Amino acid sequence: MIHSVPELPYSQDALAPVISAETIEYHYGKHFQTYVDNLNKMIEGSPYEDMEIEDIVMKAGGAVFNNAAQAWNHNFYFQTLTPAPVGIPEILEDRLTKAFGTVADFKAAFIKAASTLFGSGWAWLCQDKEGNLTIVQTQNADNPMTQGLKPLLTIDVWEHAYYIDYRNRRAAYLEAVWALIDWEKVADRLV
Ligand code: MN
Repeated sequence: MIHSVPELPYSQDALAPVISAETIEYHYGKHFQTYVDNLNKMIEGSPYEDMEIEDIVMKAGGAVFNNAAQAWNHNFYFQTLTPAPVGIPEILEDRLTKAFGTVADFKAAFIKAASTLFGSGWAWLCQDKEGNLTIVQTQNADNPMTQGLKPLLTIDVWEHAYYIDYRNRRAAYLEAVWALIDWEKVADRLV
């Protein structure tokens, strides 16, 4: 199976000024594409050749895992952003309130997790097997599916996600990108 970079659900300049067309050009057009290209090269003739990407993420290690997980993570991140603000649906608001106290408390806890992640990685909102919502930090390419969690939302905090637009100001990127989250999609992932 040849993996590919799915189309964005918006134009390359649609997220500006929060995320510039230049960042999309590099982050989506080059970083994401390179992970997919590397994955395709590595799995050729291997036991991973015919697997869905989720299965590769769950079963592989080393460089195959890193490229498969980064491909999955980037698609999940880009597909969850929208240039048209979407409010938090009531079903999700209820779950967030139950888990974190208030929606504002959830936002503060998520942004703290994303801000304090040391080095490169991802901040996630996930659902555990009991249905509880939880905030998770992962390093580098790591993905919470390997911990038995279902991802609902992620924000990329690798420097390449924000350095063109925000330089070293990760907190400013996080605050701004929050307004681009498609909460309908996040709610649709609840099980
Ligand atoms: Mn990235």
